Amino acid sequence: MSKTPSENRKAKARIRAAQYRTKHPEKAKRAVTIWCDNNRTYISEKGKTYRTGLRDKVFAAYGGVCSCCKESEAHFLTAARKERGIGPDRKALPAGAPTYRWLIANLFPDSFHVLCWNCNKARFLNNGGCVHDHADVFSVSKEHARVVKEYGGQCVCCGESRIIFLTIDHINNDGAEHRKSIRQGPPLYRWLIANAFPKEAFQVLCYNCNCGRFHNKGACPHLTSPNAGDRNIP
Ligand SMILES: [Zn+2]
Ligand SMILES: [Zn+2]
Ligand SMILES: [Zn+2]
Ligand SMILES: [Zn+2]
Repeated sequence: MSKTPSENRKAKARIRAAQYRTKHPEKAKRAVTIWCDNNRTYISEKGKTYRTGLRDKVFAAYGGVCSCCKESEAHFLTAARKERGIGPDRKALPAGAPTYRWLIANLFPDSFHVLCWNCNKARFLNNGGCVHDHADVFSVSKEHARVVKEYGGQCVCCGESRIIFLTIDHINNDGAEHRKSIRQGPPLYRWLIANAFPKEAFQVLCYNCNCGRFHNKGACPHLTSPNAGDRNIP
């Protein structure tokens, strides 16, 4: 197919740019650095759109809903191994875009599925079982149960009250600094008990609302997306 005049102009410009880069590598490098510095928002938005595209492709290939509870809001979903240890090591294949790229390149292997963050966490803590199919076989540590009870015993966003789905959340998203010194999970539960449950900085959220907020610019999809469905659906 012959090229349009505009395509021809673009092709010529690309050749000229390549010639310039070969002739003045240092100057070209500096120009790129300056352009990137001036276009940080554009680059970050482009990156997000690219990652969301990969994510949606993977979710669609695996049915688009949590394979356990049928949750369909994308911000609540992740691609997970059906059993621990399947596929490349977690260190070699970090979660997010690298995993999505790997799944696409490997034509969506059966050893993975889509889960919501709640079912994913429950299955992780509970040897592969989730409360949706094994109602009474799970347990959490005494510290976990005590802390969640002390902070109201249910997700402050959606009302979820099954403890296997609940975690302690840093209000105001300022947990990063705190997390550097005190890790999430058991170390945090022990710290909260030792510090008499400071109420102003912590609250109970389920993993869906917690991770959903992280992936949705700080607002849980229950507040922004019609897809997030009713709250407190088992
Ligand atoms: Zn689920
Ligand atoms: Zn489940
Ligand atoms: Zn919730
Ligand atoms: Zn929520």
